[in-house]
Amino acid sequence: MSLISAAEADKNSYDVVVVGSGAAGGQTAYTLTMDGVRVLMLEAGRNYVPATETPMLRTNGEAPLRGSGTPEKPFGFWDATIDGGWQVPGEPYTSDSDDPARQFVWWRARMLGGRTNHWGRISLRNGPYDFKPYTRDGLGFDWPIGYEDLAPYYDKVEMLIGVYGSNEGLENTPNSPPGVLLPPPKPRVSDLLIQQRARKLDIPAIAGHRAVMTTVLDHKRLPQLLHPGNPKAQQILAAEGPEGVAARLAWLGRPAPLLAAFAMAWEDDPWSRGGYAYFDPSFDPLGRNALALATARITFAGEHTSVRWQGYMNGAVETGQRAAAEVAALARE
Ligand SMILES: Cc1cc2nc3c(=O)[nH]c(=O)nc-3n(C[C@H](O)[C@H](O)[C@H](O)COP(=O)(O)OP(=O)(O)OC[C@H]3O[C@@H](n4cnc5c(N)ncnc54)[C@H](O)[C@@H]3O)c2cc1C
Repeated sequence: MSLISAAEADKNSYDVVVVGSGAAGGQTAYTLTMDGVRVLMLEAGRNYVPATETPMLRTNGEAPLRGSGTPEKPFGFWDATIDGGWQVPGEPYTSDSDDPARQFVWWRARMLGGRTNHWGRISLRNGPYDFKPYTRDGLGFDWPIGYEDLAPYYDKVEMLIGVYGSNEGLENTPNSPPGVLLPPPKPRVSDLLIQQRARKLDIPAIAGHRAVMTTVLDHKRLPQLLHPGNPKAQQILAAEGPEGVAARLAWLGRPAPLLAAFAMAWEDDPWSRGGYAYFDPSFDPLGRNALALATARITFAGEHTSVRWQGYMNGAVETGQRAAAEVAALARE
């Protein structure tokens, strides 16, 4: 994808114009482009470069108001929404009812990528009941299509973006075909405790389905599945391994040589074993402070050594800063 100005766009002709670059517009443009169509995408918001603009690696102490929400950033400092929110300046919006129960509030973003920049990555399929609510209980409206019509597209999107989860065969919660979902991360201590208690109540407590890559996507197999009969698209996506992928990301604006690439399945990592922090169920959470203690000249960083932000990026950064200070103190000794 190349970013161009309106003046440059005027010089060329396009087969299709897609208005809006969110999940819907993005998928439309991707699908058409992979089929060889010349697509122009128009976006009302400004460019947004997650690599440089996302303040994810700042701790609470570095954030204004310690990260809490403001009228400009209702979801707090870390929310990636640009030029948007419940209200968008210059774009009046009414929910057409004084009754709070009938009001619909609509979060909007005006930026490249739209709300894909701040969604929670929860990636669920509608189940068969959701398509035919009127037939089932007389409420709402039946969709003109059913689950079976959409299922192949769910398969494709899950494979394309990488969604982890498990197939549990629960009512109205469709399974994905074998090989589509990535393995879910190992449950954390809190998850295990919930599972244990829920089991007694006969309530299934399972991993959610989220668009987070827990293993490296199979770039050799997926192109054939996603773009059967389209050798050009397969060739582009297969991209000759990590070097090919890096070369194709030059449009991000920061070309750099790939110094080294190492791929391993997160699940097989002997240190994390697929979880953020892997603790034996018998581990006493009160002992967490001990994980941050330096031993001789070895210091420890990582979200698992954070008490306040365990499991979060904030914990990783906070403990990295603490460990750096410890190393500096050791160097002065
Ligand atoms: C806090 C939050 C968390 C969420 N978490 C999840 C989740 O975990 N799982 C889930 O499935 N969903 C989640 N959602 C919902 C999901 O993010 C949205 O449904 C989805 O991203 C919407 O995609 P879209 O393409 O329809 O719209 P958008 O992403 O809003 O894209 C629309 C784009 O069109 C542009 N545009 C608008 N008007 C014009 C114009 N006139 N000319 C040119 N461009 C224009 C906008 O600037 C924007 O970039 C979440 C939503 C919020 C608010």
